[in-house]
Amino acid sequence: MESNRVIIIGAGIAGLFTAYYLNRRGLEVSILDKGTGKDNCSYGNAGMIVPSHIIPLSSPGIISKGLKWMLEPESPFYIRPRLSLDLLKWGWEFKKASTDDHVKRAGPVLRDLLMASRELLINFESEENSSFGYEKRGLLMFCNTEKGLKKEIEAAEIAQQLGVPAEVLTADQVKGMEPDLDLNIIGATYYPKDAHLHPGSLMDSLKKLLVSRGVTFHWNTEIEEMDQSGGKIKSLHSSDGNEWKADTYILCAGAWSAGIAKKFGTQMLMQAGKGYSITIEEPVKRPLNCGIFAERKVTMTPMFGSLRFAGTMEIVGTDTRINRAKMNGLKKSVCEYLPEFSMNDLEGHPVWTGLRPCSPDGMPYVGAVSSLKNVYASTGHAMMGMSLAPSCGKIVADLITEGKSDLNHSLINPNRFAG
Ligand SMILES: Cc1cc2nc3c(=O)[nH]c(=O)nc-3n(C[C@H](O)[C@H](O)[C@H](O)COP(=O)(O)OP(=O)(O)OC[C@H]3O[C@@H](n4cnc5c(N)ncnc54)[C@H](O)[C@@H]3O)c2cc1C
Repeated sequence: MESNRVIIIGAGIAGLFTAYYLNRRGLEVSILDKGTGKDNCSYGNAGMIVPSHIIPLSSPGIISKGLKWMLEPESPFYIRPRLSLDLLKWGWEFKKASTDDHVKRAGPVLRDLLMASRELLINFESEENSSFGYEKRGLLMFCNTEKGLKKEIEAAEIAQQLGVPAEVLTADQVKGMEPDLDLNIIGATYYPKDAHLHPGSLMDSLKKLLVSRGVTFHWNTEIEEMDQSGGKIKSLHSSDGNEWKADTYILCAGAWSAGIAKKFGTQMLMQAGKGYSITIEEPVKRPLNCGIFAERKVTMTPMFGSLRFAGTMEIVGTDTRINRAKMNGLKKSVCEYLPEFSMNDLEGHPVWTGLRPCSPDGMPYVGAVSSLKNVYASTGHAMMGMSLAPSCGKIVADLITEGKSDLNHSLINPNRFAG
């Protein structure tokens, strides 16, 4: 083992699961976060655990679809054009990765990481006697057009070929699974291995557990600079003037990771992908299952009696303001698929905003950072941070304590865009 004292930058789900596995191996872990602990991307998201999502965001057809959506104010996608070298590099790598070949190579890696996380969450729930609404009921991809259904059936076939169970359901079969819910759909695909949970409850229970086991949290502590010597980080400096020392440092700073990586002398291409959610405590109907309105990319997740709708992907830097047109589009999509819900039912609920840490090739950055000898990363999980954080955190813990991990792979190497 290289070291005993570890500092993790970032207390989102990626940082917490990395801390959890390191703490279990007996390492002394501190977590530094620039916020209050509840203002990150890991709280208000859709809470879906998705072994089904083995096709990365960068895939054939996505660019033409994105360009079409750019012209529709209420569509679920937008990139704010701006003169930024980082955005240009990111866009170039995204285009390069949007190929069949990349999808073929990435699929098995994502499958292994996602399936491993699903199991790790099951173990976490039972071993730690933790309750966070983990429902292993699967996920439905609801379709209301022939074109949409055809596309989802193709995706289900790819999943089946990779050993991820998937079924095609008629609207009547879906009715059998959701007898009390009116759905305006022509069919669906179903992924029985998927699951959903309450992300805020998972975050809170992880934090409580970590504190009880001696992990220290330092809030409102923004890392700005570092000292290095001999190819290693010697200490970190936070904006409040404090200095932080450890043997090993782990970058888990979500959408802000690329800026810190630059200070560490490496390039981790990253764009923040803004999304929104609303949570209805007393919904007019309570679905039993989680699902995605496939054509509009809006999610629906029942959570302890409440119901959360989430969606949109806006690449607009770290601007967290709410785009009213996009929110309106999200609400209209809900009413389109769920005719029992009116726009009125969806008004008056606080809108949560989160910034997804998006790499250009749809793969996370996990493992040792080559520019410095004592730095690791678990970040860039984009739309799947809740689903990937356990396995990626375990990879980092394995690498630090054992020097190897069965789940590690070159496609998630954090140095792949370092140049
Ligand atoms: C609308 C929406 C729906 C989603 N639904 C799902 C879903 O259903 N399933 C799924 O798997 N994923 C989903 N996601 C994605 C998931 O939420 C993210 O991938 C995940 O939360 C990212 O976790 P993280 O720990 O990397 O980042 P974060 O949760 O953002 O945490 C990063 C932390 O780093 C801290 N930090 C940043 N810079 C510094 C610094 N300089 N010094 C100190 N601290 C710093 C921040 O304060 C923050 O607390 C969704 C996201 C959105 C927006």
